[in-house]
Amino acid sequence: MTQYVYRFGGGVSDGGNGDKNLLGGKGANLDGMASIGLPVPPGFTISTPVCALYYENGGAFPDSLTAEVANGIAHIEGITGKRFGDPADPLLVSVRSGARASMPGMMDTVLNLGLNDATVAGLAEISGDPRFAWDSYRRFIQMYSDVVLELDHDRFEEALEIAKEDRGHVLDTDMTAADWQALVSEYKAIVQELWGKPFPQDVHDQLWGAIGAVFGSWQSERAKVYRRLNDIPGDWGTAVNVQAMVFGNMGDTSATGVAFTRDPATGEAAYYGEFLINAQGEDVVAGIRTPQYLTKAARERAGAKPLSMEEAMPEVYAELARVFDLLERHYRDMQDIEFTVERGHLWMLQTRSGKRTAKAALKIAVDMADEGLITREEAILRVEPAALDQLLHPTLDPDAPRDVLTKGLPASPGAASGKVVFDADTAEKWKAAEQKVILVRVETSPEDIHGMHAAEGILTARGGMTSHAAVVARGMGRPCVSGAGTLAINAHLKLFRVGNREVREGEVITIDGTTGEVMFGAVPTVQPELSGDFGTLMEWADTGRRLKVRTNAETPQDCRTARDFGAEGIGLCRTEHMFFDAARITAVRQMILAEDEKGRRAALAKLLPEQRSDFTQIFEVMVGLPCTIRLLDPPLHEFLPHAEEEVAEVAAAVGLDVEKLKRRIAELHEFNPMLGHRGCRLGVTYPEIYEMQARAIFEAACDVAEKSGEAPIPEVMIPLVATRRELELMKAVVDKAAQAVFAEKGRTIDYLVGTMIELPRAALRAAEIAEVGEFFSFGTNDLTQTTLGVSRDDAGRFLTTYVEKGIYARDPFVSIDVEGVGELISIAAERGRSTRPDIKLGICGEHGGDPASIHFCEQVGLDYVSASPYRVPIARLAAAQAALKRE
Ligand code: ADP
Ligand code: MG
Ligand code: MG
Repeated sequence: MTQYVYRFGGGVSDGGNGDKNLLGGKGANLDGMASIGLPVPPGFTISTPVCALYYENGGAFPDSLTAEVANGIAHIEGITGKRFGDPADPLLVSVRSGARASMPGMMDTVLNLGLNDATVAGLAEISGDPRFAWDSYRRFIQMYSDVVLELDHDRFEEALEIAKEDRGHVLDTDMTAADWQALVSEYKAIVQELWGKPFPQDVHDQLWGAIGAVFGSWQSERAKVYRRLNDIPGDWGTAVNVQAMVFGNMGDTSATGVAFTRDPATGEAAYYGEFLINAQGEDVVAGIRTPQYLTKAARERAGAKPLSMEEAMPEVYAELARVFDLLERHYRDMQDIEFTVERGHLWMLQTRSGKRTAKAALKIAVDMADEGLITREEAILRVEPAALDQLLHPTLDPDAPRDVLTKGLPASPGAASGKVVFDADTAEKWKAAEQKVILVRVETSPEDIHGMHAAEGILTARGGMTSHAAVVARGMGRPCVSGAGTLAINAHLKLFRVGNREVREGEVITIDGTTGEVMFGAVPTVQPELSGDFGTLMEWADTGRRLKVRTNAETPQDCRTARDFGAEGIGLCRTEHMFFDAARITAVRQMILAEDEKGRRAALAKLLPEQRSDFTQIFEVMVGLPCTIRLLDPPLHEFLPHAEEEVAEVAAAVGLDVEKLKRRIAELHEFNPMLGHRGCRLGVTYPEIYEMQARAIFEAACDVAEKSGEAPIPEVMIPLVATRRELELMKAVVDKAAQAVFAEKGRTIDYLVGTMIELPRAALRAAEIAEVGEFFSFGTNDLTQTTLGVSRDDAGRFLTTYVEKGIYARDPFVSIDVEGVGELISIAAERGRSTRPDIKLGICGEHGGDPASIHFCEQVGLDYVSASPYRVPIARLAAAQAALKRE
């Protein structure tokens, strides 16, 4: 019979070998911590396969689960000596969800389960602390009603606020046993009113209700959104953890807290965290009370008064520090920890690899390799390539004037400017309209995830460094300032006030998540420095990779940026953008509108010097490195005007009458330009265009060789080839231009002529195309369009649905469709090599900067990938990871 339940704690472990796929992340690590002798309250995990069964069976559990859960409860009873539902000395448990990867969309934990009107009295008696017992009971009703019964939690919050107000209390901790007891009666009345039934008194009903709710939450909207944003498959399922309660709300020697073994913002090797005395569960992150610092150093740095844990509870703190070190050595990574202190005794409730900023990820990886905790190869694999994006982007110009409104906590680094919005839906809507927004909330909750994703940055009035906003923002790489306490937000009126200043929805603010500053208006930014840990890790990555990394660039400026970021050549220099330049567009239009070859040649002659100077500048920057230059690709009508008033202007500029111009524009109209008169079809019909471009390339190359003494390495690329004959014809044009230029200049330059592979036919006929072409560059944007028969520009309307329904695992324009497009690439690579074993193979689509696609490129053994300048470091790291994972 399949085992569904795995016990842990009290020296018992059903193993599962710390398998996260089976036990979920939380369950696996609870078992792991207990197994290395750390103090973990005993419990059991209902494994993830049960979640799938639950959905297959329409919300029913497998038969044997009842007995296994009973056995699990018996295990906890055995260790704790308490009985579940016993009115004299009740066992209380928490019910916790736990997927393989930590998932904010999942059901919130229910604490203190097992309390009812009878057991609360027993708990009061046995603990000698009625206040604690009634506080626990009201928490339980509140949480259970919210997350299991899904009743409106505002009603409970309101009742609590009113209860405090009536009694003149400020803090929850001011409430007495009798106060809590009275509130429990009110809570029960609210449940009766909203749910139509009394609050469940049977502890087994409570338990199964909570277990069902955890599985139910797997398909909640929140969870689905999170899975979509984070590429988590829907069939993973979640586990459920049931664990004996320990109590941080048993007075002043009790506490609850969260901590990181290193600073998750900077990576500095210093303990980092927050705790609250006489509190329970999520109080720390919920922002109900302001938490205290863990260490004395952090408290002093912040200039805070309330004692740190290091000062207030030195013995428990020392024990905790010992645990931190054990955990880091065991898991060999920075850990994010949740703990509770019950009457001076430390209990560990969770550990996992901590989310961190890109900056911290780099520092921790490099430090841990230097400390000998991990190898350099592991260090390379530890940094998520896409996260480097955070570091490559600008920070606030230190010299720019700033109008500082207020200061909060520096919760997630980086700077961002945008229009103020007060709710997640507006953030998403404005973002869709290409507006930059800053999401401003009192505090965030998992319902806000989509808005946080849409926002450039997040600002909250409440919550500490480990609040929901802070943790999620760091994970997403969004700058965040949290706990800006002077912010008075009125989401209703869509404004916030700071002192006597008022900021309304739509006004621009800037936040600096590195300093916590909040500024009015947009503050200018500067480029970041890429040295230190970044440089070190990149060096390690470069020694580990096989794939070369080039860049897609067509301006000297972009080329320089890319070179600084480590590009080893140009993989794609598009020449059409050069034609749009205001100074040239008239000549381009004259060329397009010419009646005959003679007219075209006259216009092209005007373009030649311009085009030559483009290439000269690029060659100068890229000296010593190969440059792939693609000849003209887009349909010619893209260069012609469409608006009525523009037509008249252009007609005057090119010296044509308006009617004639309109006729010509109509002639050039295409029903399906993507599949129309473009790519090498232009060169086949008007060879003089490619001839001019080739001439410009070789003249520039000779000039630069002359001047610098080092010859550029041009690779001339013919776009949209489907047949060998097309390439033959175009290569002849290029070769002829080269010979002519070399004869005139009295020197020769080594060059290659090759083609883009962006049509399925080209991939299939690669063997004969490679007899002519000296390199292939996979143009995966077009290859994806032509293979899938999907227009990239029109895909927005249905692709999201396709991804949601699992038709494509990811957006095929972002990450290569390995099965389809990937197979064509493999075929083309293999067939190309069959006739030209040393053929150079690269990729130049958007996919060249996507880590998953780079992984694929490594598998098929391409020679290089090419990415936009800012993605070059990402590609270098991803290429190293791909090489390490291949071996
Ligand atoms: P999340 O996945 O949202 O972090 P958890 O299951 O870790 O949810 O629960 C949140 C908090 O609830 C924990 O950090 C801890 O403070 C508290 N908690 C959970 N289980 C227990 C328990 N058995 N005893 C005491 N506190 C608990
Ligand atoms: Mg939580
Ligand atoms: Mg937790």
